[in-house]
Amino acid sequence: MKEAVVLYPSPAIGHLISMVELGKLLLTYRPSLSIHILITNQAYDAGSTTAYITSVSATAPSIVFHFFPATTLPPDFSTTSPHHETLAFELLRLHNPNVHHTLTSISKNHIIHGFIIDFFCAPAVDIVHKLKIPCYYFFTSGACFLNFLLYTPTLHDKFDKSIKDFDAPIDVPGTPSILPSDVIKPLQDRYDEAYKGFLDSSLKMQTSTGIIVNTFEKLEPRAIRAIVDGECVPNGSTPPLYCIGPLTSSGRHDDGRSPESLTWLDSQPRGSVVFLCFGSLGVFTVEQLKEIALGLERSGHRFLWVVRDPTNDKNQKAATASTVADLDLGSLLPEGFLERTKERGLVVKKWAPQVAVLSHPSVGGFVTHCGWNSVLEAVRAGVPMLAWPLYAEQGHNKVVLVQEMKIALPVDESEDGLVSSEEVEKRVGELMEREEGETVRERVLAMKEEAEAALSPGGSSRLALAKLIASWKRE
Ligand code: UDP
Repeated sequence: MKEAVVLYPSPAIGHLISMVELGKLLLTYRPSLSIHILITNQAYDAGSTTAYITSVSATAPSIVFHFFPATTLPPDFSTTSPHHETLAFELLRLHNPNVHHTLTSISKNHIIHGFIIDFFCAPAVDIVHKLKIPCYYFFTSGACFLNFLLYTPTLHDKFDKSIKDFDAPIDVPGTPSILPSDVIKPLQDRYDEAYKGFLDSSLKMQTSTGIIVNTFEKLEPRAIRAIVDGECVPNGSTPPLYCIGPLTSSGRHDDGRSPESLTWLDSQPRGSVVFLCFGSLGVFTVEQLKEIALGLERSGHRFLWVVRDPTNDKNQKAATASTVADLDLGSLLPEGFLERTKERGLVVKKWAPQVAVLSHPSVGGFVTHCGWNSVLEAVRAGVPMLAWPLYAEQGHNKVVLVQEMKIALPVDESEDGLVSSEEVEKRVGELMEREEGETVRERVLAMKEEAEAALSPGGSSRLALAKLIASWKRE
């Protein structure tokens, strides 16, 4: 019998890329494996996903993709939840028959060592249990947030009100305490359907065969210790934890876009540029974009800024659809801004090749939305950050980056939810030229070295991976 591992990412390109990177990593340790990746039809940006999958198939033939047929929600489906995670859990549940069919078919001529899911694919856990296949979680955010999720069922039992109604910060073992308003939105209301999905997945994670996390020991020692010591779960026993990171993609299939960013950086002085980029989805109102522009202008620093189409809704922080063709930067940004800053600033539309940008010697600081991949990419490049969370678990990441890891300075909103130009100016100044910035720069450079050590032969992340793979006995 051949041996296989089946990976099930939730349908977002970032999750797919992380799973593919995990698959490639497993293959470097056990080339005899075949890696099967299940692809649902929903929510992917069809064109770029197809191009990405084609490029992976061409370079890594041991990775096989299985495409599920289209599924739609039943006409009587309705929800009062405002969170897209509700739909994600529901759609993934509808794919359970496809999961069952595909696993059965793969297992006809393979031993399946593990079915590795991401957090949103929890509805499939019941299927794998029935098929007696070991189920692992691949957690694509950090140990600090994992900690919070593992602790969520305890919080749920301990209190009978929603997190949004708590009047004090929440204490979770191994992490700094967090304000209720910084908690990921779907977990703030215990009566929301998305909350139920999170709770269900957290409980299933507590009894999974193992949890693979994209982090490394020296980055989050306290959180990792709390998990391993069972402090976050009621019975004191967590599944084996494999910290195998930082696993970052070497670049994306569409990184050919905006090559002018790199050419422009070539002509800037070393460490002089602050890079502003807010993930694959981050959006702002026109008002907020203008505040950023004015703050950057007044800071006097060089900048490279990725701007995407604005939103009209000040509560919307993540784009739902993307268009780029007709973005007119001249009319969007303050009058004359582009002209006045053209000697020291570059604004690019929608996308820059972030991994390459961060490792360019001209970049000295990074204003980030605190998405976990961005954080790890900054750590690997040794670039200190300004933490400006927008959506998902980024509020948790900000607290940890600023208070625990001390590799970022905070960016704070005013009461009206806007980050003022004064705040942008002040924080960019701190990051790029003041003592506060120097402190986080030293810390992140130390973490860069620790990341390299973790990934080198005999390093903690390599040992963790070797341990995971050694547990998959060949027959
Ligand atoms: N990214 C990029 N260029 C951009 C925006 C994003 O290369 O202009 C990449 C970035 O390098 C990272 C990923 O997209 O690998 C974003 O992942 P992250 O977890 O930081 O945030 P998300 O987009 O999932 O919120």
